[in-house]
Amino acid sequence: MDNKLMLMIPGPTPVPEPVLLAQAKHTIGHRSGEFSEIFAEVTANLKWLHQTQNDVLTLAASGTGAMEAGIINFLSAGDRVLVGSNGKFGERWGLVAEAYGLEVDWIKAEWGKPLDVSEFVSKLEADTEKTIKAVIVTHSETSSGVLNDLEAIAKVTNAHGALVIADAVTSLGATSVPVDEWGLDVVGSGSQKGYMMPPGLGFVSVSEKAWGAYEKATLPRFYFDLGKYRKSAAKDTTPYTPPVNLFFGLQVALQMMKKEGLEGIFTRHDRHRRAVRAAMVALNLPLLGADECSSPAVTAVMPSSVEAEQIRSVMKKRFDIILAGGQDHLKGKIFRMGHLGFVCDRDILNGIAALEATLMELGADGFSPGSGVAAAASQL
Ligand SMILES: *Cc1c(COP(=O)(O)O)cnc(C)c1O
Repeated sequence: MDNKLMLMIPGPTPVPEPVLLAQAKHTIGHRSGEFSEIFAEVTANLKWLHQTQNDVLTLAASGTGAMEAGIINFLSAGDRVLVGSNGKFGERWGLVAEAYGLEVDWIKAEWGKPLDVSEFVSKLEADTEKTIKAVIVTHSETSSGVLNDLEAIAKVTNAHGALVIADAVTSLGATSVPVDEWGLDVVGSGSQKGYMMPPGLGFVSVSEKAWGAYEKATLPRFYFDLGKYRKSAAKDTTPYTPPVNLFFGLQVALQMMKKEGLEGIFTRHDRHRRAVRAAMVALNLPLLGADECSSPAVTAVMPSSVEAEQIRSVMKKRFDIILAGGQDHLKGKIFRMGHLGFVCDRDILNGIAALEATLMELGADGFSPGSGVAAAASQL
């Protein structure tokens, strides 16, 4: 049936109707007082979401652009950076750093396992010469559904003195990312994830300490020169033409988030995380990561009696529900169910019920129909 598509992927995520309608308004000039008013409001609300007094800058970019900006503005060629990699995104930030001539020291963990904080401790404590300039880490590793202990990694990094550069793309707007309390110098995110927005905007928060590093950093930068965004933001505008209509949407999305409140948003995501995991266990579908380090945004599942890709295919064809597949070596081995952003309890029940029907159609064994829905409902 048309117009019933349900995105259960970890981005792009569903967009509320008021946000879509706001974007349908006539475009206005970005040097107008009217735009500046919107800009000022969204910037204040972005700081609220990041729980920070730091600058939060908005770029016309996806999350990768925001992270690239967050890396290149504060470092110089040859600088040593520690990069945590336990999935596709951690790996990507190391590749960005290498592309710009940084010396990458990898801390790796298996996909599905969290990064080991003690490895950060030993590398940082051994670095008495302070050659490590930044630690780059992904909070919620979307490719495997693992939530890394960003708070602990930030703590040891702050004790060392290096910058903490964090990918919070699927944690901001899903779980608490208290930027000031944790001492996160640079935090990147993107509109199509926890913001309940279409793709197109990237966000970077920048601490005073990072601005200090910016003054000395010599990597090339132009469009993503964050100093220009900071200067313009002081005048409630952007250095270049922004996607004005996305700002209309962002204004409404952030108003909706403020109305729900941070606690409301975080408990909702936590409830959905628990409900989806309980359902998978009840359906005899093995989870990729452990409960203690599970992402609030996405759940990775490694089915054994039926193919992950068959499940995705039936879910799409029969029910118009889109699940994500696995990436790289997990391609075809896992499916990922997103529960990020504009998701309500009913969506979770729908998704699990459709998954049960899919398993029945595929002749999966080892589960009793109804058990997944019951397990999910018990958590909602
Ligand atoms: C989606 C995502 C990104 C950004 O990807 P884009 O496609 O560039 O928006 C970065 N990190 C994580 C963890 C993500 O889930």
